[in-house]
Amino acid sequence: MNQQYPSMLLEKAVGEFAKLPGVGRKTAMRLVLHLLRQDTAVVEAFGNAMITLKHEVKYCKVCHNISDTETCRICSNPARDASTICVVESIRDVMAVEATQQYRGLYHVLGGVISPMDGIGPSDLQIESLVERVKGSGVKEVILALSSTMEGDTTNFYISRKLEGMDVKLSVIARGISIGDELEYTDEVTLGRSIINRTLFTGTA
Ligand SMILES: [Zn+2]
Repeated sequence: MNQQYPSMLLEKAVGEFAKLPGVGRKTAMRLVLHLLRQDTAVVEAFGNAMITLKHEVKYCKVCHNISDTETCRICSNPARDASTICVVESIRDVMAVEATQQYRGLYHVLGGVISPMDGIGPSDLQIESLVERVKGSGVKEVILALSSTMEGDTTNFYISRKLEGMDVKLSVIARGISIGDELEYTDEVTLGRSIINRTLFTGTA
């Protein structure tokens, strides 16, 4: 169905919004018209925030979390327990675990999970750098906090093989709780508890 737009500029703006996940053309139109009603300064601030974010954002060279500096605030905080690393899929997961206020260690953001169906292999993820981190310092425990999907399990297993023989405890967050896409269904208390009640990783789900 081809909607008739009175303006090419409007059509282009709506088209850009409609590319966002979960935004259909109707919603896109509503958002664009809303922005159009705002002062020029408001719209400029909106656009500039996106452009500046994209140009200037950094990823922590240690844990790959999003950061304004070379090393993120968590990694560079001396009050954090550097002997524990929590392995997560995405930046959103770091924020979710931080919100529980139950974890004082560091993170490692993989950037996804192994998924042959989507063409994502171990080399597409930050797994080697995790292995290097564990090798190189006084890391005592690695906590696997990936989603409890087949892909998450595969990734857990792959990491466990890579860390085999190293003097590090490998644990997994309490099963039945998954973070990532199911995050919105997991409240902070439950997620916090699943970290506290983590169990030794045995290689079986
Ligand atoms: Zn970091």
